[in-house]
Amino acid sequence: MNKLSIDALDLAGKRVLMRVDFNVPQHEDGTVRDDTRIQAALKSIRYVLDQGGKLILMSHLGRPKKVKDDAAKLALLKLDPIAEYLAGLLDGVKVTKVDDIVGADVEAAVAAMKAGEIVVLENTRFNEGEEKNDPELSAALAKLADVYVSDAFGTVHRAHASTEGVCHYVDQCAAGFLVKKELDYFGGVLNAPDRPLVAILGGAKVSDKILVIENLLSLVDTLIIGGGMAYTFMKAQGHEIGKSLLDEAGIEVAKKILAMAEEKGVKLLLPVDNIVADDFSNDANTMVVGLGEIPADYEGLDIGPKTLELFLKEINAASTVVWNGPVGVFEMEKFAGGTKAIAQALAENPKVTSIIGGGDTAAAVAQYGLADK
Ligand code: AMP
Repeated sequence: MNKLSIDALDLAGKRVLMRVDFNVPQHEDGTVRDDTRIQAALKSIRYVLDQGGKLILMSHLGRPKKVKDDAAKLALLKLDPIAEYLAGLLDGVKVTKVDDIVGADVEAAVAAMKAGEIVVLENTRFNEGEEKNDPELSAALAKLADVYVSDAFGTVHRAHASTEGVCHYVDQCAAGFLVKKELDYFGGVLNAPDRPLVAILGGAKVSDKILVIENLLSLVDTLIIGGGMAYTFMKAQGHEIGKSLLDEAGIEVAKKILAMAEEKGVKLLLPVDNIVADDFSNDANTMVVGLGEIPADYEGLDIGPKTLELFLKEINAASTVVWNGPVGVFEMEKFAGGTKAIAQALAENPKVTSIIGGGDTAAAVAQYGLADK
């Protein structure tokens, strides 16, 4: 997994062609409804600008092929509102939107760029060559670039002109920060895992981890969801969650993930009972309640004993475990039991390879003196 990444490139004064995933949910008028994916791309975008690069951004949006005979619907898939939104996030940065992907007008706009500026190309899927991975389109895109950066994490698996084809015509191609993060965390072992492969995801926010979860669903045999993010899934299934952590924007995502898991035949396990508390504190009154039984003034802060048993059964039968995010508020002794028991089970299982990622999870394991195992 020896991959060149964006932070190893010399970008000053260079034309940097970057494929991002701006395929965002839209309002009916085409404006941005959920900016998660734009936010996710900002780290690489800001880096190129800070390094003095000239940034040319490209993305697909929706499925133009499906509405190609309806001019009004097609117009809603132009990237103008997204370029405008991006400009709003990058106060003071000059963002120019062009109406094509390649050709003389685009080349002229790129030639006029100064360091620290952005040109946003039109929806890549407006060009029929994109999904066909057409070499002519790929070469024309490459003409715009000194270096190419791949950061459209949701699309990197597709061999399209803007994601794969173009790389054959640009000398230097690298992964952006989103892609790099994924490679760093999961790359090696997940290329050829010993099965059963079980992923355990916990921690606070669903939205933070959407891309990771979607990706894991294509790989794992079992996906275990615990921690704060589990309550958004329970809410999505219609259960009462009291004062537990809820990621409102994540409810729809959770529904989609539940459906995807079913479609892909992945066993998805959620807590069946919870340790709930009347306060976010180690001195809180606590009790164990079943699914959907969290009182309105209580919040779930750790998995319950039945859940632990259920999770451990899967974990003990696994050959590979990927774990990111504590299954409870492990910083407080009262709610550390689930996380600690999982760490212990992994440490004591000689057959399992475990990849534990994320600062909090690694910290928890170190705290229990199990890191070397
Ligand atoms: P993340 O950065 O998303 O991996 O979240 C890690 C944080 O999630 C840790 O500080 C945990 O205390 C917190 N966490 C885990 N479970 C819960 C929960 N049930 N309610 C609130 N926070 C939680």
